[in-house]
Amino acid sequence: MPIKCPVAPLEFCFLADWYFTERGIRDQVQITYATPLDAAFTKPIAAGQLGGMLAERGIELVTEFNTGEVDGGGGRLVGYDGREIPFDLAAVIPLHGGATYVGRSPGLGDELDFVPADEHTLQAKAAPNIFVIGDAANVPTSKAGSVTHFEGETLVGNVQRYLAGEPLEAGFDGHANCFIETGFHKALLIDFNYDTEPPPRPLPRKGRAAAAQGVAAQPPRQAALPVRLLAQPAPRPLSPRSRLDHAHRRQAHSGPSGGLTHADQPRRRRHRRPQRRRLLHRPRAVDRSHGPRARRRRRHRRVLRDRRRRPDHLHLTMAHFTDVIDDLKEPTHSLSRAIPDTWNGFTQLHKAAVADGALPAKAKELMALAIAVVKQCDGCIAYHAKAAARRGATPDEVAETLGVALLMDGGTASVYGPRAWAAYREFATPATATPVAV
Ligand SMILES: Cc1cc2nc3c(=O)[nH]c(=O)nc-3n(C[C@H](O)[C@H](O)[C@H](O)COP(=O)(O)OP(=O)(O)OC[C@H]3O[C@@H](n4cnc5c(N)ncnc54)[C@H](O)[C@@H]3O)c2cc1C
Repeated sequence: MPIKCPVAPLEFCFLADWYFTERGIRDQVQITYATPLDAAFTKPIAAGQLGGMLAERGIELVTEFNTGEVDGGGGRLVGYDGREIPFDLAAVIPLHGGATYVGRSPGLGDELDFVPADEHTLQAKAAPNIFVIGDAANVPTSKAGSVTHFEGETLVGNVQRYLAGEPLEAGFDGHANCFIETGFHKALLIDFNYDTEPPPRPLPRKGRAAAAQGVAAQPPRQAALPVRLLAQPAPRPLSPRSRLDHAHRRQAHSGPSGGLTHADQPRRRRHRRPQRRRLLHRPRAVDRSHGPRARRRRRHRRVLRDRRRRPDHLHLTMAHFTDVIDDLKEPTHSLSRAIPDTWNGFTQLHKAAVADGALPAKAKELMALAIAVVKQCDGCIAYHAKAAARRGATPDEVAETLGVALLMDGGTASVYGPRAWAAYREFATPATATPVAV
């Protein structure tokens, strides 16, 4: 793709939204993401999810916008198709191209100076003794550091094979993954290849725990790129051949019993089982498609798949109050379409009531949270805990708010107060962030 790292501008928007929210001036700033792509991302499922996240944050997405002119004086971006986008500040990414020496080498590069290559062997189309890696390559996957890394696995072997006069391995499958900072101490991880779209699903539990520790211990930038995550078994699709290789290597390394004595084996199985179930693309040396374990595995996958179908699942899920909000989305939209005038009126009321005024918006959200506790309304708790967290409410402020609810409501608030506390922690605490591996 002639775009370097298509998630970078998305991160820019998410982080700008976070920054302005933290400064309490988000409602005075309009953020627009204009992209030449036809959606928020190159892959349709992720594009839908990421587009939803932009919408949820009030970031306007303008697609198929090819900038023809930047009118700095007039504050306008003008597209080749005549569309205009006004701005006070524009961050404009210039046309991305390959290295100039490629352009100077006849027949090596394409019109943008990238080097066309076989997408699986990485051998240049220009000549058999040229191999291409990284941003230089014209292959249909993202221009990302991770892609360069995965390409390296195939390319090194193929250079050796070429020099030895052996057939090349069509080993590169377009594997890419990207961490995406989404602000508010949270991040996503998407992982895909030529054939497999990023399927939204949660990280294996172990990875989540590691991520949570990394997030808790470090400032936001590192928090979003928890290096320990990379040490987790990568849930990457393996070709049938790689699966066999993998299984053989494992056996050669550890012997038929995996290096353990016979007596050790039951314990080893107990330890390995949870991890095995979560790795959807684990190597298989034997046919495991039948039997009760296979059925359980299939059922588990079905459950995951159903969860994925819920809108916005890509966004830090597996948390109760996030799910509460998700579950309400569709019926809320449906009801609002059924009574548009009434619902618009309610939306106006909501905006006006919680806007910054004599009382800051954060205080209003805390009041709403206390009332939600008294009303015993889980959906209201989820919404206002999330809003309070986004408005920068501190744990002490939320705790004292819930103390007032307890004072006024007594017994039932001793149940719904802790629920609101859990909701706030879910939305505010970095350690509860659950980046999604796909
Ligand atoms: C803002 C931004 C954010 C990004 N975020 C991510 C991310 O989160 N995750 C991710 O995976 N990727 C990300 N990327 C993309 C990633 O940085 C690149 O895809 C990756 O660095 C490409 O590696 P490369 O080795 O092909 O090229 P490069 O890293 O560009 O290395 C090429 C090297 O060749 C040198 N060079 C150039 N011409 C010559 C010459 N004539 N002679 C000698 N040396 C030369 C250059 O100086 C450079 O050091 C991001 C990119 C940007 C711009």
